[in-house]
Amino acid sequence: MKTLQNYTNGEFSSPSGAESVEYTNPATGEVLGTFPDTPENVVAETTAAARAAQPGWAALPAVQRAGYLHQLASLLRDHVEPLARVITAEQGKVLPLARVEVSFTADYLDYMGQWARRIEGEIIESDRPGENIFLFRKPLGVVGGILPWNFPFFLIARKLAPALVCGNTIVIKPSEETPENAFEFFELLDQIDLPNGVANLVNGLGASTGKALSSSPDIDMVSFTGSVETGSKIMAAAAQHITKVNLELGGKAPAIVFHDADLDLAVKAITSSRVINSGQVCNCAERVYVDARVADAFSEKLVKAMAATRCGNPLEDETLDYGPMINEAGFNKVDAMVSKAKGDGAEILTGGSRIGDGPGFYYAPTVLGNCRQEMEVAHKEIFGPVIPVTPFEDFDQAMAYANDCEFGLTSSIYTRDLNRALTACKQIQFGETYVNRENFEAMQGFHAGWRKSGIGGADGKHGLYEYTQTQVVYMQAGELG
Ligand code: NAD
Repeated sequence: MKTLQNYTNGEFSSPSGAESVEYTNPATGEVLGTFPDTPENVVAETTAAARAAQPGWAALPAVQRAGYLHQLASLLRDHVEPLARVITAEQGKVLPLARVEVSFTADYLDYMGQWARRIEGEIIESDRPGENIFLFRKPLGVVGGILPWNFPFFLIARKLAPALVCGNTIVIKPSEETPENAFEFFELLDQIDLPNGVANLVNGLGASTGKALSSSPDIDMVSFTGSVETGSKIMAAAAQHITKVNLELGGKAPAIVFHDADLDLAVKAITSSRVINSGQVCNCAERVYVDARVADAFSEKLVKAMAATRCGNPLEDETLDYGPMINEAGFNKVDAMVSKAKGDGAEILTGGSRIGDGPGFYYAPTVLGNCRQEMEVAHKEIFGPVIPVTPFEDFDQAMAYANDCEFGLTSSIYTRDLNRALTACKQIQFGETYVNRENFEAMQGFHAGWRKSGIGGADGKHGLYEYTQTQVVYMQAGELG
C-alpha cells in the first residue's frame, strides 16, 4: 500500500487533516494505496507558491527552462519499465502500450523543449513614420492542469511541457483513478533541481480539489482534459475570475468506409482504434458508416477481427489486446448502451456482454449491426470496445451522418480515390481527420476539437502558443537630437 503525497514548492507533503482516498487496480480490485483529498486552503497555498515562482522562472532564457525538460525526459527514459508497470496497475492498459506512453512522454518533453529557440513574436508595419510595432509573446502566469485517467502520464507532459517552456508555472491535479503515476513523475522531477514552485502536484477529488483549482483567482489558465460534463463545470468555475480555459473533451469519431476502400486496411485500422486502451480514448473510432454496396463484406471482416482480440489482466499477459474497463461505472455505461441499442433494433454481431465474473470489469469486443443514425449509440460517447455499423447510400448521406454530432474531435475516411478523400476532408466538420490510417495524433500536429469537444487545443506550434499571451508595443522613434 502506497501513501501518496502532494508536491508543493519543491517539497513532498501531506495536507494535514485531509481525507485519505483509496485507489485500486481495475484488473483485480486490489487497493494499491491512498492519496489526500486536498482541501481548498492547501490548493490556495500551492497556487500562491506557483505564483511566487513565476516571475523568476519567466526571467530565465527559454533554452535554460527547456534544459530542465530535457533532463526530465532523460530520467523518464531510464525508468520506462517501472513507470509502465505503475500505469498498467492503476489504469489497466496493456504493458506494451504503457511503455509507449512513457517513451512518448519523454519524447514530448524533448519536443516541447526544442521550441525554446523558436518562440517568436512579430514586427508589424506601422501607419506612422518612425513608429515600430512589436508583438511580444509572454507567458500567461500560472496554469492549472486537470487530468483524466486514460493517458494519465502523457497528459502531465502535454500540459507541463508547453507551460514551462513558455515561462509559466503549473499546478497539476491528476485523476482520482490514477494518482500514482503522477506521484512517480514528480519523484523524478524532484531530482532535476527545478526552482521551487515551478511545478506542483495536488491530489484530490474533482468536486473538492479540482473545483478549488479551477475557481482559484491565482490561476491564469485552466488546461483541462476530460468529459464534457466536467468541462462545462470548469468553465463555469473559471468564469468567476474570467480565467482562460483550454478544454480537451469527449469525442464520437466517425469512420467512413467508401465502396472503393481497401477493406482489410479499414478493418485493421478501425479495430485497433476501437480496442486500444479498452476503447477508452477520446480519439477512438466510435461509429462506422459503410457504403451499402460493401457493407456485408466489410462487416464480416470487422466481426472476425474484433472477435479475435483478447482482453484480460494486463500484468499477467503481455500479448493481450486490451485490459479491463477503468471501473464498474465505466462498464455499466457501456453495457447499458449496448442493451439500449439492442432494444432499438441493433443486431449484436459479436460480443455484447461481460467476459468473466470478476474481479475486473472486462467487456467483450462488440460489433453492432443494423444500426440507424437516430439511435443513441450513434450519438453518445461509448468509451468502450463497442462499434456500431450503419450503412449509407451515397456520399452526401455519409457526410450528413458523420456531421450530425455534438462532438467534433476526430474522424476518419477510407477510400482509394484522392478526389473523394479531399472532398470528404473539406466537408467533414471535425478538428482532426485521418485518411486510410488508424486514429492517433502526432505531437507536431494540433489536437483540437470542434463543438462540444473543446476549446483551444494541444500539440505543435499552435498548442504551444495556447500557453502564451501577446503584448503589442507601439514604439515611436523621434527626431535625432
Ligand atoms: P472526468 O471529466 O470525469 O474527470 C477528469 C478530471 O476532472 C479528473 O481529474 C476529475 O477529478 C476532475 N473533475 C471532476 N469534477 C470536477 C469539477 N467539478 N471541477 C474540477 N475538476 C473536476 O473525465 P475522465 O472520466 O477522467 O476522462 C474521460 C473523458 O475524458 C472522456 O469523455 C474522454 O473523451 C475525455 N478525454 C478527452 C481527451 C482529449 O484530448 N480531447 C483525452 C483524453 C480523455
